[in-house]
Amino acid sequence: MGMNIAIDGPAGAGKSTIARKVAEKLSFLYVDTGAMYRAIAVYFLRNGLDPEKEEDVKQVCEKADISIAYKEKEQRIYLNQEDITGLLRTEETGKMASLSSAHPLVREKLLETQRELARKNSVVMDGRDIGTKVLPEAEVKIYLTASVHTRALRRYQELKEKGIDCQLSEIEKDIEDRDYRDMNRPVSPLRQAEDAVLVDSSEMTIPQVLDKILEICKEKVG
Ligand code: C5P
Repeated sequence: MGMNIAIDGPAGAGKSTIARKVAEKLSFLYVDTGAMYRAIAVYFLRNGLDPEKEEDVKQVCEKADISIAYKEKEQRIYLNQEDITGLLRTEETGKMASLSSAHPLVREKLLETQRELARKNSVVMDGRDIGTKVLPEAEVKIYLTASVHTRALRRYQELKEKGIDCQLSEIEKDIEDRDYRDMNRPVSPLRQAEDAVLVDSSEMTIPQVLDKILEICKEKVG
């Protein structure tokens, strides 16, 4: 029998960095559900479709086939058989993912793929609704967050390192908007599951967060 760890939280809390490390440590599969929503967003953007138009959303759900494979333990995402993993982490894609993921049809489309991965493997899965909706029976649930300012600073530094020109105030505003959309949508809003453990990483380093989460896993399942 497999075991599943759900890590939810807002954008920029460090979920993917931490989830990847926890998975590595425990030899579990890391499943990045945000990447699946981003892949759908790529389809919207490429085809000039509008996530607020019902017929556009239907078209995407029918025509965009999203699949996942693992190469050297790294998750690769395919959109209609094309590996688009390298295209997912832009601001534009993130923003479109946040808009299009609010639609129930988009969520329904990805739900079964996510559940199947967790049925067949021990996974560390990160996202917004993993503990509340996708894997309500997960053995360990973590709600990983950090202050808006800390999250914006981390993103700012990341972009600067890549040589991308940006403004801290704009990033803060983007994060606030994205939080608001993710937390206030009617379907699967971002919120802490009742049985999730809250970890606030504002004042913590990555190794500290990793230790904390491994400690929580030990406490929960021995
Ligand atoms: O985590 P990441 O920033 O890659 O996610 C992009 C967007 O996808 C989020 O802003 C959120 O709106 C959406 N998402 C979601 N449910 C998930 C994972 C991501 O709605 N489980």
